Amino acid sequence: MAYPSTVRAIEDELARLAADHPDLCTRTTAPHRSHEGRSISYVTISGGEAGRPVLLTGGMHAREWAPPDVLLTLLDRLLRAYEAGADLVVPGFTDTAPARDIVYPEATIAAADVRRVVERLELSVLALINPDGRAFSQASAANAMWRKNRRPPAGSATTCRGVDLNRNFDLAWDFERYYDDAGDVAVSASNDPCDPQVYVGPSALSEPESRNVASILRERRAEFYVDVHSFSRKILFPWGMDSNQSRDPSQSFRNPQYDGRRDGGFGGRYGEFIPGDLLDAHVRIGTAMHDAMIQGAGDDPRARARSEYAVEPGLALYPTTGTASDYAASLQFVDDPIAERVVAYTLEIGMDTDGEGGFQPVPAIYPKIEREVHLALMAFLSAAAG
Ligand SMILES: [Zn+2]
Repeated sequence: MAYPSTVRAIEDELARLAADHPDLCTRTTAPHRSHEGRSISYVTISGGEAGRPVLLTGGMHAREWAPPDVLLTLLDRLLRAYEAGADLVVPGFTDTAPARDIVYPEATIAAADVRRVVERLELSVLALINPDGRAFSQASAANAMWRKNRRPPAGSATTCRGVDLNRNFDLAWDFERYYDDAGDVAVSASNDPCDPQVYVGPSALSEPESRNVASILRERRAEFYVDVHSFSRKILFPWGMDSNQSRDPSQSFRNPQYDGRRDGGFGGRYGEFIPGDLLDAHVRIGTAMHDAMIQGAGDDPRARARSEYAVEPGLALYPTTGTASDYAASLQFVDDPIAERVVAYTLEIGMDTDGEGGFQPVPAIYPKIEREVHLALMAFLSAAAG
């Protein structure tokens, strides 16, 4: 599959993976078609009985071209290594951009770890959440920075299309009710359909593309989740909507007493509750992902510096509501929880410096980003497999 893949190439690759590995890989059509009528499919990899449910997603934001590709190549490597009883090999890479010659060595994930991941997990991968957006973003240079989906304009309007799917999930979606005035200003969310970046949509989970993610999380009862985005070299864990605290369970998204009083910042009077052991688990697994990328970078300090991902709460990027990974984590605290414990991340891959191209890595640097994501996600899956 050639990077950056088209919408069609992604669907074809999902079909090929299922056809080539029928005993291990099942392709399922997600329940909702996109606004433009595209069918959206995902695969589930399972080599054992009653594996622990895990979900990986990508392609939520149209302009972020690398995440679907790195997810599909990871599946290809994982399935081939498993069937061969071999190590998963992450090829070396030499960055030959001008004034640099930085070598990233070959890295391997042991065959025993590959086997644990495939046999102990039920691993679902929705590689492309937002096919309409990707098709639009790839159609012309003028569209390349499109982020949202392609929801048609409301009523008789002819402009202002699209919803930011990563603000549309059902968690603090109604941000004006949720925050105080300062929080309303700080939060990266908008009620304006013409906002080109962060329009939250007409209602929570109004979009077929976000409903697909929510329905897979719920139906499969995902206990581990990573939503892959570009860019900023960050491994973000809950919460994104406010600062974390582990002392007062009543300070919770579920508690309407705090409506209009949440500040959405560090050090304010409100902090979102996260149990201490859950916070510790996120830091521990996030650190394992970080360490896998650093070790994979080898000995060259320039390679290591360019592989340094920050492990931090989502709020460290900016306050956000209605994101997929926070929503997934919230599903352990609602009345009908999907699991006793849910561990969820947003992984922001690549960088806009170091010649990496930000939202759209240039093809020459893409193998570096692909390899670091494979190392990080294999560490994540290994932790999930226990
Ligand atoms: Zn994104």
